[in-house]
Amino acid sequence: MAEIIQKPRGTKDILPDEQKYWQFVEKIVERRCRALEFGKIETPIFEYAKLFSRGIGETTDIVEKEMFEVKRYKNISTQDEENDQMVLRPEFTASVVRAYIEKGMHVWPQPVKLFSFGPVFRYERPQKGRYRQLWQFNLEVLGSDQPLTDVVVLLLIWQIFTDLGINDSIIIEINSIGCKTCRPKMRKNLINYLSPYNNALCGDCQRRLQTNPLRILDCKEENCQKIVQGAPQLIDMLCTECKSHFKAVLEELDDLNIPYDLNSRLVRGLDYYTRTTFEVVDISDVARQSVLGGGGRYDNLVELYGGKSTPAIGFAGGVERIIEKIKERGVKIPEIRKTDIYMVQIGDKAKKLALKLICELGKAGLAVSCSFGKDSLKSQLKAADKSEAKLTIIIGQREVLDQTVIIKDMFEGCQETIEINELQNYLFNKLRSKNV
Ligand code: AMP
Repeated sequence: MAEIIQKPRGTKDILPDEQKYWQFVEKIVERRCRALEFGKIETPIFEYAKLFSRGIGETTDIVEKEMFEVKRYKNISTQDEENDQMVLRPEFTASVVRAYIEKGMHVWPQPVKLFSFGPVFRYERPQKGRYRQLWQFNLEVLGSDQPLTDVVVLLLIWQIFTDLGINDSIIIEINSIGCKTCRPKMRKNLINYLSPYNNALCGDCQRRLQTNPLRILDCKEENCQKIVQGAPQLIDMLCTECKSHFKAVLEELDDLNIPYDLNSRLVRGLDYYTRTTFEVVDISDVARQSVLGGGGRYDNLVELYGGKSTPAIGFAGGVERIIEKIKERGVKIPEIRKTDIYMVQIGDKAKKLALKLICELGKAGLAVSCSFGKDSLKSQLKAADKSEAKLTIIIGQREVLDQTVIIKDMFEGCQETIEINELQNYLFNKLRSKNV
């Protein structure tokens, strides 16, 4: 027997029954984004590796350990071979910033507001809620340093989680990690505080103490967490501008009644963040194993990629984890409407006629469902019921002979016989009267 090939570790097949969850999340994201004038952007699933190493940071987990390389299969060297290494995107922000610069979006009216929905890839150790291919919805606003912009992004996130029916399960944790001016002081004070504990820190954090001491603040190791309890608070080390920026963000959130918790240890794992950083945390997840989304300002990233200095802010929500939460909370998800018309046929001649009608009605723009695999009237009517079609067309031997069909109104339960050459007009009128 041939070997059965399985899906790669950390990936997921999204089967038909699951699709309604994905469509639900995508539709809500799209609706709320469009209302606040975010435009949709799709960027390539693979990019040059240097895009991520420059932006996210050479020494971050994502760049150091988690990128999937993309090569031509069987890597035969040819003249048109790309010399630069390519990888599957591990996140959206770097690609959106690249597109902002490459497409000259700085001449568009600012700020430019963009959203995306799609898979990203990270070579992580798979476990519950952690995949190697994961979906994210992503929000970016480029070209504004105003505190109000941060608030608009947080409002949009709050609206999305409210529409998803899980806003009472989450809290937005928020912090400010300052700018280039505050950073040297933060580094110095943290190194002073942490150095005596060097030997008690985990291996990663001993390294971080040299490269990026801020990251030690959100290490998940128990011992490191204990040590950072007494570390100096970032908020106390902000420069005057960053302090007043953060204060304005919090005041506006208070005015809008958007709930949040201050978390002075929230720094996020990517190098490009500045000032406001935030995460959407599941209230019941005390160990913080399953953060539902995260983001923050990245005021220096456009410049780092060779664009003109442009302040910006973004957010990414983890779709798999959000769907898990939706299921756990028993949120009622609308079924995906398959069709408005269902065709039931009995006998070979009726089957042939049904196929012809599906083809003709299809040309006129009507989608008609039919289960040719089921023969009995009972099982076909059951399928019609389940499909939530508004009308069912029934064709038996008699109807084939008479060149008629029976139309059953699935909501009112009544039925009538219609001549085939009248069928198209009849269906259009009937569906229009039902506002379809
Ligand atoms: P990040 O870009 O790391 O801030 O990720 C944004 C969100 O994506 C996280 O808050 C998670 O909800 C989700 N996420 C990140 N990595 C994974 C993963 N490996 N598996 C599932 N979801 C993830």
